[in-house]
Amino acid sequence: MVSDSRTIATDARVLGPEGLDSLVAALWDAGFRVVGPTVRDGAIVLDEIASADDLPRGVTAVQEPAEYRLESREDEAVFGWAVGPHSWKGQLMPSRVRLWRASPPGNGTPPSFEEEPPPAKPLAVLGARPCDLHAIAIQDRVFLGGAYVERDYAQRRDGAFLVAVNCGVPGGTCFCTSMGTGPRADAGFDLGLTEVLDGEHRFVVEAGSERGGEILSALPTRPATGDDLEAALAVTDAAARRMGRELDTSDLPGLLTANRDNPRFREVAERCLTCGNCTLACPTCFCTSVEDVNDLADGSAERWRVWDTCFSIDYSYIHGGSVRRSPMSRYRQWLTHKFGTWVDQFGTSGCVGCGRCITWCPVGIDVTEELAAIRATDLEVDRAHAR
Ligand code: SF4
Ligand code: SF4
Repeated sequence: MVSDSRTIATDARVLGPEGLDSLVAALWDAGFRVVGPTVRDGAIVLDEIASADDLPRGVTAVQEPAEYRLESREDEAVFGWAVGPHSWKGQLMPSRVRLWRASPPGNGTPPSFEEEPPPAKPLAVLGARPCDLHAIAIQDRVFLGGAYVERDYAQRRDGAFLVAVNCGVPGGTCFCTSMGTGPRADAGFDLGLTEVLDGEHRFVVEAGSERGGEILSALPTRPATGDDLEAALAVTDAAARRMGRELDTSDLPGLLTANRDNPRFREVAERCLTCGNCTLACPTCFCTSVEDVNDLADGSAERWRVWDTCFSIDYSYIHGGSVRRSPMSRYRQWLTHKFGTWVDQFGTSGCVGCGRCITWCPVGIDVTEELAAIRATDLEVDRAHAR
């Protein structure tokens, strides 16, 4: 039922643009809280959507290092842009979440301890890009795949319905083809849409799961013809040729291990503000901290989990001080973890090539440029000579 980079399910269906409203309604009717892209404050962000009217229409997003702006398109494309500042991390692992609340005993009442309950409705993700699906799979591995399960993540992830939208318009900072994560989704979705604009504006829809097939069967669709399938494949073929950036991924863990002392890290640290924007925008970064809050009036206490960043000097504070005191050591920690030691830890790269860290870095630091510069000045002579 799922497709790889040059195949598509032959039992795909075709949904007209007006049918998107039926999809949103069918998901709400099935008991989901539907979250999708919407235009707000000059950006395409993720929020609860009540109907297809909330989706972007006729806009695209121009993305370059430290640059993002919306522009009008000459058509009515709904997904004529790549990724926005928000990733699905914000839904599955919110930036600030209460873990528990405790109250002291009162007049005849015993002390109480309540863990935060699960969300009232499971999440329906509308419009996850292929790189986003890979990012969710990475976070699943981190939070659910080890000895200790992250309870809040598990509750939000449980039963989540994923509607993927294959990419037709990569951003200027995208490099999913280099990372093997796009622009066509190959697995991990309930429904996979490809928006076709040539000729009739339509969506070619593939079911990736049984429940995806059930939702699809309730929508006003027609069977996809061979021309529809070819048109859908042509959309992602064209996107793959228009990637904004590329990255040589060969032996990145080895390259980074051998180049801890590469002078490039000092150069980039002179620009890096250690603001942490890159980690907050990144769909796979998962560092958090906890805050305990006490109410002096009633004696209650709460524990909150909040996003944190390895760019903060406090993040590596261990008895007596921080072990990464310089901006260089913190940038190097982030880059080598994301592209190197993550592989040892979790079996995949920590990067899915979405480009968010490049777009949202206020000084335009570009991971593809930094890694290429390190490769060009590789300190390990044998590997450098082998090229
Ligand atoms: S490191 Fe950058 S390009 Fe890679 S997944 Fe994170 S934000 Fe996207
Ligand atoms: S690389 Fe850019 S976004 Fe990341 S901490 Fe440095 S200045 Fe901030």
